[in-house]
Amino acid sequence: MKKIPTSHPRYLSLVTREQISQAMKLGIVHETGLIAHGRGEAFDYLLGETTIPPADVAAKVAAAVLLCARNPVISVNGNVVALAADGCISLAKSIPAKLEVNLFHRTSERMKKITALLRKKGVRTVYGLNPDARIPGLDSDRALCEKKGIFTADVVLVPLEDGDRCQALQRMGKTVIAIDLNPLSRTAQAATITIVDNVTRAVPRIEHWIHDLKDTKRSDLDKLVKTWDNAKNLAEVLSFLSKRLNSLS
Ligand code: ATP
Repeated sequence: MKKIPTSHPRYLSLVTREQISQAMKLGIVHETGLIAHGRGEAFDYLLGETTIPPADVAAKVAAAVLLCARNPVISVNGNVVALAADGCISLAKSIPAKLEVNLFHRTSERMKKITALLRKKGVRTVYGLNPDARIPGLDSDRALCEKKGIFTADVVLVPLEDGDRCQALQRMGKTVIAIDLNPLSRTAQAATITIVDNVTRAVPRIEHWIHDLKDTKRSDLDKLVKTWDNAKNLAEVLSFLSKRLNSLS
């Protein structure tokens, strides 16, 4: 990996770019993943590259939902594995939840590479490689899934999702938690809970809340979840963004 001086004012951003670029060279990230990353970066810049208060509230409610879930699954793609594989593995252990690989630009080679990487990092069962079900109403390969994984999941965490699959999962009656830096994306608008934050920060934040809420009574977790209003939270994100931009203008 290219050496980036720690003194560089954009150090973290450049290291992250390097990670994505390396992962593309290794066949983990699809080339269009670089474009998706760029869009995310732009929104992160506008948000101040930090976890903003409404995002942390969303992460807390997401943790409550995951703790109450019967069969929670974390769906990962190339970008997520490139940037947050360790965080996702640790989060999955803490809940506990299953990990399933799901790709828009699906090739057997990329599926195998991502699965092997997760296995090398200690995940015993990685779902996705041998699909035996389809998400109804989706024409793309993102419909392919495993019965024991996403197909029967009641809660699916989808970092960096596309709007179509988010809506299709919702139509199946699932609770969808999205992590997306763009509060205006179809995914952000369609999810049950949207965390507008970078996947690199949001995943550890959800895990923080998992540990914090682990001993909370189920009825109290339910109360927390019932009060959730995604549209209101997204409005708070937009309000934060416009106030921040106003203060800079
Ligand atoms: P939609 O179908 O929901 O409108 P899209 O087509 O705009 O999505 P995609 O290309 O499918 O977007 O996915 C990229 C999304 O992921 C973008 O909304 C982008 O902001 C977001 N994103 C990219 N990198 C990150 C990251 N590191 N953390 C969180 N979100 C990210």
